[in-house]
Amino acid sequence: MSATARRSAPESTGSRTPGSCWPRWPPSSTGWTYLDRSIIRLNSGALDAVDAAKGKWWLSDLQQRVVDRCLQLHGGYGYMLEYPIARAYADARIQPIYGGTNEIMKEIIARDLVS
Ligand SMILES: Cc1cc2nc3c(=O)[nH]c(=O)nc-3n(C[C@H](O)[C@H](O)[C@H](O)COP(=O)(O)OP(=O)(O)OC[C@H]3O[C@@H](n4cnc5c(N)ncnc54)[C@H](O)[C@@H]3O)c2cc1C
Repeated sequence: MSATARRSAPESTGSRTPGSCWPRWPPSSTGWTYLDRSIIRLNSGALDAVDAAKGKWWLSDLQQRVVDRCLQLHGGYGYMLEYPIARAYADARIQPIYGGTNEIMKEIIARDLVS
């Protein structure tokens, strides 16, 4: 596999759900595959910062999309802190912020693209 192909980020379907700011529901198997591959490469010392940044960005973004849809399913109750889905929503929201914000992940990836 070429270095370019190996480094390609997992893709969503690209289209958007009507009325939603999120891209259409992505296949979660794409996320699992990228995560599993990253763990294998990390354990063998082959995961570089750029591929790690792609995973951190894409998977934390996916987590937000999944939890957002789940909360919507619960309607107004999903917003109430007594319900676990509200906690899951708050937990998901921090993921793109800590561990290096996703904006910084995009900077790492962009620097690699133009280098
Ligand atoms: C619960 C929690 C636990 C944490 N645990 C740890 C820990 O164990 N170890 C540790 O080291 N840190 C930890 N942190 C810190 C965490 O890594 C930082 O919150 C994170 O790095 C973001 O820094 P900041 O909060 O100062 O935001 P800022 O860097 O001030 O960013 C604010 C906003 O500006 C955006 N931004 C910043 N720079 C750019 C740019 N160049 N381009 C575009 N947008 C940009 C960011 O994306 C963000 O949306 C933790 C934070 C939280 C909330």
